[in-house]
Amino acid sequence: MSFSNLGLSEKVLAAVAATGYTTPTPIQEQAIPHVLARKDVLGIAQTGTGKTAAFVLPMLTILEKGRARARMPRTLILEPTRELAAQVKENFDRYGAGQKLNVALLIGGVSFGDQDAKLTRGVDVLIATPGRLLDHTERGGLLLTGVELLVIDEADRMLDMGFIPDIERVCKLVPFTRQTLFFTATMPPEIRRITETFLHNPQKVEVSKPATAAVTVTQVQVPAGREAHEKRELLRRLLREAKDLKNAIIFCNRKREVAIVHKSLQKHGFSVGALHGDMDQSARTAALEQFRKGELPLLVASDVAARGLDIPEVSHVYNFDVPHHADDYVHRIGRTGRAGRTGTAISIVTRLDQKSMAAIEKLIGQSIPLAEGDFEIHTEASDATERPREARGRERSRGGRGKPQRGRDRDRSHEPREARGEARHASEARHASEAGHASEAKSPSEARQPAEARHRSSDKRRAEPRHDARQQANPSHVPSIGRPEPRRQREADTEPGDHSHLPAFLLRPVRSPAGA
Ligand code: AMP
Repeated sequence: MSFSNLGLSEKVLAAVAATGYTTPTPIQEQAIPHVLARKDVLGIAQTGTGKTAAFVLPMLTILEKGRARARMPRTLILEPTRELAAQVKENFDRYGAGQKLNVALLIGGVSFGDQDAKLTRGVDVLIATPGRLLDHTERGGLLLTGVELLVIDEADRMLDMGFIPDIERVCKLVPFTRQTLFFTATMPPEIRRITETFLHNPQKVEVSKPATAAVTVTQVQVPAGREAHEKRELLRRLLREAKDLKNAIIFCNRKREVAIVHKSLQKHGFSVGALHGDMDQSARTAALEQFRKGELPLLVASDVAARGLDIPEVSHVYNFDVPHHADDYVHRIGRTGRAGRTGTAISIVTRLDQKSMAAIEKLIGQSIPLAEGDFEIHTEASDATERPREARGRERSRGGRGKPQRGRDRDRSHEPREARGEARHASEARHASEAGHASEAKSPSEARQPAEARHRSSDKRRAEPRHDARQQANPSHVPSIGRPEPRRQREADTEPGDHSHLPAFLLRPVRSPAGA
C-alpha cells in the first residue's frame, strides 16, 4: 500500500514524499479513507503508531477547499497537554507547508491577546487544550459553530486528567453535523460512553500496540531506602556507573520531585533538563528541544509532561519513583527500546513501592529482576548538602517542630482524585489544563505518615552503603553525561573507608525473560 492509494490531494502527497515516508502506517491506511469520506472515526491507537498524520493528512486535503472566517475556526483539535498540541501544530507546519492555512494554537501559558488576534484573522485549524479553549469561548472571542471537523486526541489521557466534563461541553458547542475523529489508546467505560454519545455511526479502526518495549528493554529494579535523599544518591550512582548511557529520561511522580531531582543533579554536575507542568511554556519547550538535540543528555520529567511526546530514542529510562499506575510504567519504559533497539529501564524501588511493582509485573506479565549487588543506600549524613532542608520539611509534615503546613503545601487540588478522595470538579480540571499538569500529584506524604513512621525504625537497621572503589580511584571514569563532580561533592556522597566492591549489576546486564 502506498500513500497515493488513500485519496489524499497532490499537495499533501508531495509533502509526505518530502518527509521521506513511503508507506502509510496501519492506522493511516485504515483511517485516512474514512476521514476523506467524511465519516466519524473511532481510532484505537496510541502514540508511536503514526496516528497524528492519520488525521492531519486528510484534514489538509479537506481544508484545501473553503476558507476561514473571523473567530470561527473550521476545524478543532483537542489535546490534553500543551506539548502534544504543539506537536500536532508541527505536523501541520510540516505537511501543510505548500498550503496557505491559518493554524492557531490555544494553550495555556501564552498571552491571551496574541491568541485573540489570531482568532480574529480567521483560523482553518485550531489546536487547543480544553481549558484555554473554553476560556476563549466564555470571553466571547471564539465561536465554535463553524467547526466542520472535530478531533479529540488522546481521549483516555483526557479522562485521566479530569477533562471529560470539558470535552462534553465542547462537543455541545460545535455543530451537531460536524465530523468527529476520536482517538484513544484504551476504552475504559467512561470513554465508551462519550463515544456513544458524541460519535455518529463511527468507523472503528484499531491497531495493535507497537512492539511492546518489554521485548527489547532490559528491565531491572534497584532497592532503595525510603528517603528522597537516599534515592537521589542512588540515582547519581546509577547514572555515573551505567554502561552505554547515551541519554536518559528520569521519571518522577510529582512535579515538585522533578524540580528537586533536577536541581540536585545539576548541583552534582550533571547536564540535565526538566519537564513538568509548573514550568512556564518557554522553559518546557526549551528543555524538550535541548534534550531532542542532545544538548542535555538527561531529562527529569513527570508523566503528564512526557506522555505522548515524540521524544527520540533514549538509551535509558530511570524511574526515580515507581509510578502509581502500572500503565504509566509501560509508557515510561516505552521511551527506550524503540523500533527494535535495545534499552535499559531501571526502577528505584522502596518498600512502599511493593504493591505498585506487583501491579506492574502483573500488567507486563513478567517479573522485573532485582539488580544484583548492594545498591541500597542509606546514609543519614551522606547527602549533607541536601538533607537538612528535607529533614525540616519532614518534621513539619509530621507535626514536629515548625508551623503546620499551609498555603501551597496544603493545596491538594492537583493530587490524583483517589488521593483526594473526591471527584475532580470541572473548573479544577480546567485550571490544571492551563498548566497542562492535571494528574501530576503533590506529595501524598501526609496520607502515608503512619506507614512511613513504621518503616523508619527498620530502615535505620539497614546495611551501610557501599561505594564504587573504581570511581574513587579514577574520577575520569565519570561518563560524559555530566561533569566530574567537584572533589568535595564526591566525598560528600561517600562513606569514609568503605571502598568495598563494584556492583555486579553494572558489569553484567540483567535481561528480562522476554528480552532473552
Ligand atoms: P505519532 O504516533 O503520530 O506520534 O507518530 C510517531 C512517529 O512516526 C512520528 O515521529 C512520525 O513522524 C512518524 N511517522 C508517521 N507516519 C509515518 C510513516 N508513514 N512512515 C514513517 N514514519 C511515520
